[in-house]
Amino acid sequence: MKTIDNLNFNGLRAIIRVDFNVPLDENRNITDFTRIDAAIPTIKKILNDGGMAILMSHLGRPKEGPEEKYSLKHLVPALSERLGREVKFASDCIGEVPRRMAAAMKNGEVMLLENLRFHKEETKGNRNFASELAALADVYVNDAFGTAHRAHASTTIIAGFFANDKYFGYVMANELTHINNVLKAPKRPFTAILGGAKVSGKIEIIKNLLDKVDNLIIGGGMMFTFIKAQGGDTGSSLLEEELIDTARQAIAQAKEKGVELIIPTDAIIADKFDNDANRKTVPAGKIPSEWMGLDIGPESRQRFAEVIGKSKTILWNGPMGVFEMENFAEGTRFIAEKIAEATAKGAYSLIGGGDSVAAINKYGLADSVSYVSTGGGAMLEYIEGKELPGVKAIEE
Ligand code: AMP
Repeated sequence: MKTIDNLNFNGLRAIIRVDFNVPLDENRNITDFTRIDAAIPTIKKILNDGGMAILMSHLGRPKEGPEEKYSLKHLVPALSERLGREVKFASDCIGEVPRRMAAAMKNGEVMLLENLRFHKEETKGNRNFASELAALADVYVNDAFGTAHRAHASTTIIAGFFANDKYFGYVMANELTHINNVLKAPKRPFTAILGGAKVSGKIEIIKNLLDKVDNLIIGGGMMFTFIKAQGGDTGSSLLEEELIDTARQAIAQAKEKGVELIIPTDAIIADKFDNDANRKTVPAGKIPSEWMGLDIGPESRQRFAEVIGKSKTILWNGPMGVFEMENFAEGTRFIAEKIAEATAKGAYSLIGGGDSVAAINKYGLADSVSYVSTGGGAMLEYIEGKELPGVKAIEE
């Protein structure tokens, strides 16, 4: 892998695509520093070599041009503190201002460019825009795994302006190494656990995983499409009618390939989508018409726990129930704990996807699993077997 360890950056200007898309509160205070912290080792390596670091990122989803609340200037104090040096801020990412500032930089200096998405050319993957960014530096470094599945100007197109002078930063390299560990040489048994709301977004992943795993556990809202496919009654639970056939095919394929497909046998149901709804536990295929399943039941939890306990590699994406509501969080919490226990016994566990990461953080277990992926969408596309444009652009 072509990482920044392959180059001494002394005297070189590096433009680094980082993922500084951090959450801010209404007073523009950063509420979670994970993404900033993650980028620090890459920046430090370049500065310690005697290089110059020009940082670029997006923040939020600005609609039309600049918006104060999405300005990256709010990140300057936190960044400066972590790097132990002044961070200069360019009020735009292209044009005269960054050009002049980049030209004036000295070895060991850092500059942060304003939000890339203040220009719509960024997400459009515009070549001229990418070339203006590229003109600021001698070397391009991509360290933004979270946007690697997008062919944007700063994540992909810009790489074309650096024939050989393009590298992966440490965040990227780490993510790819960890996901490859799981996909290319997993220790067996290998168990994947999929949950979340929709099957539609995950059907390609299911197909791809059937060729790789020994056990595939299905939970969350998507379980009901599978239960329906087995002939069960799912009441008013989440259901994707048009995917019932696809679920049936997945069940058949699993059998052919010798993969154990584990679908919940019981569910916690509610008479409305509310934490204070009336609740009961029923067999998963016997949900009365006015009721909806919002979590897996105790029997399913035990069955899942048994499988997880015997696994040597575990991949988890998507909550088991509506974990945002305390009364329907037990399945998700339980599974998170079992994954942590299996990890303590030597299993390798990879957690990815926004909501499973939120769950693992909520239960304080982020340090008890092997790796928490920072890029939900990018990780899923990679697992699906798709080539990530941001990765390909560095490799080719
Ligand atoms: P996803 O974005 O597909 O990973 O879905 C995550 C969401 O799925 C979370 O917000 C959960 O509340 C939701 N979810 C999980 N289980 C259920 C369920 N049984 N019914 C409805 N939503 C669910």
